[in-house]
Amino acid sequence: MKYYGRICHDLSDITDEKILKTLPGVTIVNDKYKCNQCTNTDQRMFYHYYCYHCNKETIYCRSCIQLGKVQSCKNIYVIESHREETSGYFKLDFKLSPQQELASQKVSEAILSHSPLLLHAVTGAGKTEMIFEDISQARRKGYNVAVVSPRVDVVKEVYLRLKQAFVDEQIDLLYEGQFAKFNSTFIVSTVHQLMRYYQHFDVVIVDEVDAFPLEMDNQLMTTISKATR
Ligand SMILES: [Zn+2]
Ligand SMILES: [Zn+2]
Repeated sequence: MKYYGRICHDLSDITDEKILKTLPGVTIVNDKYKCNQCTNTDQRMFYHYYCYHCNKETIYCRSCIQLGKVQSCKNIYVIESHREETSGYFKLDFKLSPQQELASQKVSEAILSHSPLLLHAVTGAGKTEMIFEDISQARRKGYNVAVVSPRVDVVKEVYLRLKQAFVDEQIDLLYEGQFAKFNSTFIVSTVHQLMRYYQHFDVVIVDEVDAFPLEMDNQLMTTISKATR
């Protein structure tokens, strides 16, 4: 397993990956604290305590504490991204309907032109299967793909369907307590876990965007743009 395009807390976790940036977990920008892991600048989310290693006050971010604590007196490392092409092979035992074909075509155009696209489809309309060809195309080009949802149950279900179809792909599944096992070229993840990445993904597909609480929209966009190339 490699840390490509990820934020790493401990250099003993990496082997031959290149370090892009080394920076403190929390820095002060214009007299305000900023978290370099999750980009949070909400000052209420920063706490401090006396660090006996450094013999000084240390500031840490509570916003991304589930991803591992980052603090002002300890460095984090941004690891260089990497792409790997695959055959993009997948199995699908039914044919897409003309409407699904059309939707898939739209997704494909959006991916190739690097533009955002909002696709409305009702549950059970073969929503996931509709994007198989698009994911395949992206993987054949070596694009790093992330399929994300705010909901853990959706993440697990989508992962199973993708794994059954893309039998040759090394798909990473990420949610709280579930970590990447491969090189993060193709991940299925909660939005929260996407914060582990930095300028790594070429394609980000957000499932069940409506399930995302409105007040978290900004965080969603910030997280996606940070994780995207
Ligand atoms: Zn943070
Ligand atoms: Zn310290």
